[in-house]
Amino acid sequence: MTLQGKQLIGAQAVAAQGSPIHAVNPATDERLEPAYAAGGKPEVERACALAWAAFETYRETGLEARARFLETVADEIEAIGDALIERAMAESGLPRARLEGERGRTCGQLRLFAKVVRAGEWLDVRIDPALPERAPMPRVDLRQRHIGLGPVAVFGASNFPLAFSVAGGDTASSLAAGCPVVVKAHSAHPGTSELVGRAVQRAVARCELPEGVFSLLYGSGHEVGQALVRDARIKAVGFTGSRGGGTALMKAVQERPEPIPVYAEMSSINPVFLLPEALAARGKALGEAFVGSLTLGAGQFCTNPGLVIGIKGEGLDAFVAAAGEAVQASPAQTMLTPGIHDAYSQGVDGLTQSSQAREVARGPAGDGPNACQAGLFVAAAADFLREEALQAEVFGATALVVECADQAEVTRVAEALEGQLTATLQMDDGDLETARGLLPILERRAGRVMANGWPTGVEVCHAMVHGGPYPATSDSRTTSVGSAAIQRFLRPVCYQNLPQGLLPEALRDGNPAGVSRLVDGKREA
Ligand code: NAP
Repeated sequence: MTLQGKQLIGAQAVAAQGSPIHAVNPATDERLEPAYAAGGKPEVERACALAWAAFETYRETGLEARARFLETVADEIEAIGDALIERAMAESGLPRARLEGERGRTCGQLRLFAKVVRAGEWLDVRIDPALPERAPMPRVDLRQRHIGLGPVAVFGASNFPLAFSVAGGDTASSLAAGCPVVVKAHSAHPGTSELVGRAVQRAVARCELPEGVFSLLYGSGHEVGQALVRDARIKAVGFTGSRGGGTALMKAVQERPEPIPVYAEMSSINPVFLLPEALAARGKALGEAFVGSLTLGAGQFCTNPGLVIGIKGEGLDAFVAAAGEAVQASPAQTMLTPGIHDAYSQGVDGLTQSSQAREVARGPAGDGPNACQAGLFVAAAADFLREEALQAEVFGATALVVECADQAEVTRVAEALEGQLTATLQMDDGDLETARGLLPILERRAGRVMANGWPTGVEVCHAMVHGGPYPATSDSRTTSVGSAAIQRFLRPVCYQNLPQGLLPEALRDGNPAGVSRLVDGKREA
């Protein structure tokens, strides 16, 4: 398919009038065609009007029809074939295998949400039948279900051009919840976005849904994003990106006459705690394995382990020496965009120039224009606790090891951490009591606590939490990965004494929709 560089608004492809946006191949700094003329307020207005018009119909689509739509989106993405992978490789610098895996994850995610929709548990139907004879007060008939919030604004993420972008987790969970979606494409991969956007457009047409169920806008310099989240017809926001971007969107929605939820995933340094027995038994092996996780995808994962904490001693020395050697041997990988490369270089320069951090190792510089030179630094816990800047996310393959004097200092470091997506314990059997002491702190600090693994690699399943307290996300009560992500875009409605003919199908006597229901406090099959 020839890319056209147009905004996809409902069923149309529309030429906008703004400044041209070009993708850049980060491996060569070559500008890629076509240009995408940035949209502005007129395009936002049109997409939101269509989304709002589609909402009433779309939110009441039957479970089977909505599930089939999600599956059709997945089928259409797969049908694009290799053209999608090649364009994504050119726009992101990511290797083929990674992008093929990401496409599988994206389609798997859409199909998982199709299953979730069919099962109907997300409706969370509760029925408390009337008790007219109850004394001293009779009870009225009360029935609850969940409905979609309304049209959702989704911001494509730079670091997952497929799985967290146009038809990624935020879009899949919004559509599953019955919410039309207006996507603001990330300017780093406009061609990939167009290919996927057209696949969603085709799925909307094939399933005979209202065209406003999906639109895709392009813009830069914040204009489209700001106009979108301020539009009264947008009822929630899904975002993955920088802390500055996420907090700006939170502020913008608070200024609306009607504030709305923002689900922003922003910054996390994903601390790894090396507990004493594990360090003593396998410090060297841990150092080598750690660098495998640190350098994966040039460190451009939200779950990249950027902070390691351990007690000073032989075990930690062995860890640092092995990790340093592995960093020196890690080839430089192309970063996603020149902007992300610049931000990374500044972050690493900050550590190099800090009087509190000591450089242990740097990787090879690499030949390409946006190569990520891996790095490892060490700081004393007392300095880490004093110097807030040492907690800042360096988005890329650089980590800081914090050396503590004893377990009490490890605890103080854990308490001082900002909110995180993940916290990892490297532990052996003899570390159980130490881990038990840390666990309550880590539960307060992170969305996912793990033992003896590495945080990169986020399974899309029912039990996953990809979330956490600020600044990891803007709302720690939710997850952006896994089936529970649908809950972000739903709200409960209670129907009191409504006649059967007026009740939604899932709430009617006899359970004609065949969904799981809690009736008078008891689970009905
Ligand atoms: P970004 O600068 O936050 O931009 C992401 C999206 O948000 C873009 O579409 C951008 O639109 C929009 N946006 C940003 N600020 C906005 C504002 N004030 N108002 C309205 N819209 C706004 O993120 P990025 O370009 O992906 O990367 C920059 C940095 O983000 C990286 O260096 C890294 O530190 C961090 N990052 C973190 C994660 C993570 O998961 N933790 C993931 C990716 C990136 P415009 O193009 O119009 O500005």
